[in-house]
Amino acid sequence: MTTLELPMYQTQHRPLPAPTPSKPKLWHPKRVLFTPDALEQPFGQRLLERMQALGLDITLLKSNRLSGLRGKDERETYRLAKQTLAVVNAPPSMLQLQPIPPSADWQFHLAKGCPAHCQYCYLAGSLSGPPVTRVYANLPEILSSLAAYEQPGRVTTFEVSCYTDPLALEHLTGSLSECVRYFGTREGAQLRWVSKFAAVAPLLELPHNGHTRARVSVNAEPVSARLEGGTAPVSARLSGLRQLAAAGYPVGVVIAPIMPIEDWQAHYTALFGQLEQSLNLPCDLTFELISHRFTPGSKEVLNSWYPNSSLEMDEAGRAVKRNKFGGLKYVYSKDVMGELRAFFETEIAVRFPQARVLYWT
Ligand code: SF4
Repeated sequence: MTTLELPMYQTQHRPLPAPTPSKPKLWHPKRVLFTPDALEQPFGQRLLERMQALGLDITLLKSNRLSGLRGKDERETYRLAKQTLAVVNAPPSMLQLQPIPPSADWQFHLAKGCPAHCQYCYLAGSLSGPPVTRVYANLPEILSSLAAYEQPGRVTTFEVSCYTDPLALEHLTGSLSECVRYFGTREGAQLRWVSKFAAVAPLLELPHNGHTRARVSVNAEPVSARLEGGTAPVSARLSGLRQLAAAGYPVGVVIAPIMPIEDWQAHYTALFGQLEQSLNLPCDLTFELISHRFTPGSKEVLNSWYPNSSLEMDEAGRAVKRNKFGGLKYVYSKDVMGELRAFFETEIAVRFPQARVLYWT
């Protein structure tokens, strides 16, 4: 089907043709480490074969401990870590799932870490040590632990993007495809993943059975251009999402982190224009709206990773929100939140009347 033949029902404006997909840039780690335990897993062996076929520089470690990851200072440690992929077994604690409201009922993990360089990265507060990307060789065991968490009588949702960007790694691992295939066989469960990457080709032919909601995370151009190093351009992410929608996946747009930058209405209006252009085809579409926030811990880590960042993290201009464990985060003031929220919800209601907004936070 060509672009011009696509029926549209979600836009009330004159449609522009959707952008032509270009070939996404793929991440190739400078070194890959395999632990002995990972190599005992059949999936670990498959990962080894894939990565050998890609001609990557592979080291088979003698011990299960990842060592020698530090450089001479924080900058070098960060740089080396972001160029390294480690294939390990997820620890047993990862087989005990944790809830993840409001995104999904449960979270599970196919990897921990991400090769991109977003200066507000959500992982900063939850990863310890050098930010090496760790891929899990015992993924089949992790997947087989999920059925116990399905709740009878309703669709139970499972989020797989809390500690990584799964699409960023897919060309190297095939792990996201494993998850999609698994969820394709589950009637009472839905997989949810989100990405700032665009290489969706491996997913298009999978038997997903509509049980995976594929989402991309997008932002206004100044935020994306200044703060999202190493990711795919927003236009490429949207082109990937369009292809996934055309392949029958339920899809979603996560606008995050929303920031009241200078001229924010104009910049986010332009983003909505891009969204309309890309998603002018029939699809099951949701939106998730996440305003920027930070914690004392994430601010400290981000300042060490990106000392020259222009990201605003001034506690004085923020409101404090506490969780039930006493931890605090800095969010925008009630007034700013109200203004942002009204803008986004109105834009979505007008431009995408069939879409559902799952939450604002
Ligand atoms: S893509 Fe997501 S996980 Fe990766 S660096 Fe950016 S915010 Fe962090």
